[in-house]
This record gives sequence, C-alpha cells and structure tokens, in this order.
Amino acid sequence: MRTRNPLILGIDLGGTKILTSVINSQGEMLSRDHSITPAAKGPEGVIQAIHASAQRAVEGASITMDRITAVGVGAPGLADGKAGILFTSPNLPGWKDIPLRDILQEKFKKRAFLINDGNAAALGEYYFGAAKGTFHFIYVTISTGIGGGIVVDGKVLQGSRGFAGEIGHMTIADKGPPCHCGNRGCWEALASGTALAKAARKRIETGADTTILSLAEGKIDKVTAQTVQSAAEKGDPLANQLILKTAYYFGVGLANLVNIFNPEMIVIGGGLSNMGNRLLKPAYEEAQKRAFEQAYRTVRFLRAALGRNSGVLGAAAFAFDELKQALGKPDV
Ligand SMILES: [Zn+2]
Repeated sequence: MRTRNPLILGIDLGGTKILTSVINSQGEMLSRDHSITPAAKGPEGVIQAIHASAQRAVEGASITMDRITAVGVGAPGLADGKAGILFTSPNLPGWKDIPLRDILQEKFKKRAFLINDGNAAALGEYYFGAAKGTFHFIYVTISTGIGGGIVVDGKVLQGSRGFAGEIGHMTIADKGPPCHCGNRGCWEALASGTALAKAARKRIETGADTTILSLAEGKIDKVTAQTVQSAAEKGDPLANQLILKTAYYFGVGLANLVNIFNPEMIVIGGGLSNMGNRLLKPAYEEAQKRAFEQAYRTVRFLRAALGRNSGVLGAAAFAFDELKQALGKPDV
C-alpha cells in the first residue's frame, strides 16, 4: 500500500516489557502502549499480548488498523531479519526458531519487518536521535547487560544472518568471569550493571569495609549497580573503586570498537550511563590510552537522546527503510 504519509506500527519486544507505538516518517510517536511481556506463557501468549497492545496503540492514535502501512518489530536475541526468524532469546523462554515476522504478517495482514533489539535501538538514535546526520556510528547500551548496534556507511551492520553487532559478547579477558552466553570474559560479564553488582557482593562477602550493604537494607541480594552508585556518591571508597574497575573494562571495549570501526560517533545509553562522568570519564580515558590516536581523535562520545523509545523508533525506522527499498520510493 502506498500512501503519502505512511504510518508504521513499531513494536519493541523486550524480555519484561512490550512497547508499541504508531510512528510517522518524522519519528513522531502518535501513541504509546506499555505492557508486561507474559514471557512465561511462551511464544503464543507473547504474540497475543503483542496483538492486544497493537490494538490499543492504534486506538490511542485515533486511527484504525487500515491506516497502518507496515509493522516493524525489534526483538531480543538472535534474529534473522532476512528470514524473519527469531532463533533464540535468553529473555524469552521457549522461543526457538519462531518465524515471528510471518506470524505478525498473518495476524496484522500487513508487511512486517523483524530486527534485533540492539540494532533497532541503534537505528532509532541514527534516524531520530543523537546520531542524526552521521554515517559511521555505534550505539552502546550499558545496563544489566551491554548491547548495541553498528552503523557503517549509513546502514546498520547485520552480518550474513542478522547476528552482527553483539558487542556485549566480545571477549575482553580470556579467563574472565563466565557470561550467560556460555563464553567467559565477555564485555558484559566485566562492565555491565550486573557485573558491578556481582563484584560488590563478592567484596562484601569477603568482609570488605563498605556502606554498600547498609544502603541495600542490609540484604546482600538487594545490592545492585544503583546501590553501588549511591554509595559512591556518598564517598564510599570501595564503591568508587568498583566503579573505576567497571569503567576500566568499559573503556577497553570502547577502544576495540574505535580501532575496528573508526566511527564518527559512539552514542551511549542504558541505565548505567546515568552515572555520567563518574563512570564515563575514566572509561573514555582508558579508551584513549588504547585506541589509535587518529581514530580516537575523530570519534565523538554522546549520551543517547531517545531513552527507552530508541528501540520502538528504530524498529519503525527499519520498516520505513525496508519499504523504501522495496518500493524504490524516495519520499517514504
Ligand atoms: Zn557473553
């Protein structure tokens, strides 16, 4: 269907939340529907929840489903965009080789496009956020894990099957701590919020002198990256030391990205980026020490602009992009 003002139904499917929105080609969100992912109900339950959320998003935009041109969905895990298959997802139990794109096409009677969530978030920042106007950029999200996406020559790098851009799983320390992906010493096993909390718990268990535990109501399982951050803000030396260690590893990974991809810009999002200079300044300093001087000099580091909307906006941008290619139409 060709209309002058196409609208895309963007879906950001997460392990815990679904965000659905009607989005126009300027990246304006005409509605937002947040719901909980019924992950325990398996693929069928989750797909039903997506459908219900889409209906609410369409109603919220005061339109009917006929007005929607296509559906763009960003999903966690290994997604093959070309075949439209979500192979496996660590956050969605029971999902194996699910042809999500075709299922959604059938449900909505619209063209649907599937992309990995990290790549979607990168496209969101690229088209509508902090990286607008660049051609070579990397999006890095640092929160419970580390994810992201890579844009090279104005296109998101998907690799041969759509698995490219799993930056959180580059090996930083060959004998480092185990990662849930099965490898050890991955970037996210060393520099994520989960890694920071784990390191803090370990030090508390071995009797370290710190205020972190008291900030977590005295319960070790309540120690999170945020608790460590609060302790650091109050001047706790161990908390500061742990954050510096996280920053160190974060910087090592950034240096790898700078040397391999020579990006114009690296955009950093995710909960841990809210630590600001306490985390990011030492990370950039470490990256600078390790990266090629010329490559480091050309890269700008920026904080993400779209917050939690990057994924849904990027899923829509991906659909716009694919439609444009399919139709050969410049104004979509
Ligand atoms: Zn890993």
